[in-house]
Amino acid sequence: MASTARNLVKVAIVGAGPGGLTLAAILRRLEIPCSIFELDASPSARVQGSMLDIHKRSGQLALEKAGLLDVFKKHMRVDATEMFIRDHQGNVHIHHSEEGEEDPERPEIDRAVLRKVLLDGVDPDTIQWGKKLVNIEISTTSEGTKNSFVLAFADGTKSTEFDIVIGADGAWSRTRTLLRSSVPPTYVGITYLWSVIKDIDARYPELSEYVGKGSCFTADSGCKRGLVVAQKNGDGSLKSNVNFPAPENWKETSGIDWSKADEDLEGVLKQFVEKVIPEWNDKAKELITRCDEGEMLVRPLYGYPPGYRFENKVSGVTLLGDAAHVMPPFAGVGVNLAMHDAYDLALALEKIVVDGVAIDTAMEEYEETMMVRAGENAVRTNQGGELFFGGGGLENTVVILKKIFSGAA
Ligand SMILES: Cc1cc2nc3c(=O)[nH]c(=O)nc-3n(C[C@H](O)[C@H](O)[C@H](O)COP(=O)(O)OP(=O)(O)OC[C@H]3O[C@@H](n4cnc5c(N)ncnc54)[C@H](O)[C@@H]3O)c2cc1C
Repeated sequence: MASTARNLVKVAIVGAGPGGLTLAAILRRLEIPCSIFELDASPSARVQGSMLDIHKRSGQLALEKAGLLDVFKKHMRVDATEMFIRDHQGNVHIHHSEEGEEDPERPEIDRAVLRKVLLDGVDPDTIQWGKKLVNIEISTTSEGTKNSFVLAFADGTKSTEFDIVIGADGAWSRTRTLLRSSVPPTYVGITYLWSVIKDIDARYPELSEYVGKGSCFTADSGCKRGLVVAQKNGDGSLKSNVNFPAPENWKETSGIDWSKADEDLEGVLKQFVEKVIPEWNDKAKELITRCDEGEMLVRPLYGYPPGYRFENKVSGVTLLGDAAHVMPPFAGVGVNLAMHDAYDLALALEKIVVDGVAIDTAMEEYEETMMVRAGENAVRTNQGGELFFGGGGLENTVVILKKIFSGAA
């Protein structure tokens, strides 16, 4: 349809994470203009996390709509579907791989590579980097029928007027806080420590072998101590995290002097493993203690409970991904949900722009679909958390994964 026949609306997306970028990439294909405002100063300003498995019926569906599925498939890492489940002494309970399968259900991709694929699908002029949203000014037409929005940024600048604002700005979304909900996500009782070892094959071949080509999960009986997840990335690095039950302020009250990490990171991390996973095998500990300088961080995990809904309705403002429904990564669905939201929201925007459907009607339909899906996945996430940390731990995980891999579940 020619653009002159369209209901022209100006769309602002706050946040260039996987959700915001997927939306912008689909909108580009639908020839619906948008502007993205991202707080990072540039695409390379922040080290990206580890691998993500992109599911066929959500993440891959969105990539297909954005015309990026073929390029994704060139970069996906089927070898990285290799998975070891080990007990805390290092014994292997499950060894699984989908390598050789032509069309795997959940292929892995490095997070940094996914971001690059998505960025390549977006017109570079669409994105303004170094724009941290701090405020949104609303004005309403004299008939009270339509809102328009001006975004204010930390650098003192302001945007032009927009008809629709989409908060894709992650777990601590400013868009959500300003306009949709004052309820913050709550701590889920699990904290993680993150470590990165570069060039793992050459520097630590025995650790490389312990992990295999993809992911390695090490847990104790009942996950009383925790769960170590180690993943080999396409750039040759190993990214690991120890997830462990702890109070929210554990980092401050642990008795570990984190300020010494700059001069003696290994010493600090040795204190950490002896405190958190003291009985575990040496290789599981070394996944953490061999961390390269400047790569360690400790963070509590937050989420909304299943069934959570926003308090306020503001015509023309909506959310997607973690901004709408952050949940801890116990079911590994967060990025797929963000991309699925982007897919649904792009279709809603198409209805507004091409079919002339009212903004409120299209947005309400989108939010209903999104929140129902998020609620179902929050339940699965809680079950995943319960599975790992609720007493069953390694034993439950092994039984369930064996069923899944044998096709019985
Ligand atoms: C340890 C860990 C492991 C995980 N593992 C997995 C996994 O294996 N599989 C999976 O599917 N999910 C996983 N997740 C969840 C996944 O990372 C998120 O669900 C996903 O990144 C959400 O995407 P998003 O685009 O909604 O938000 P984000 O990725 O958080 O992106 C938000 C963007 O908004 C920007 N932003 C924030 N505030 C502002 C502001 N004020 N102004 C402008 N820009 C702003 C940020 O810089 C960022 O670029 C994991 C999460 C964690 C913490």
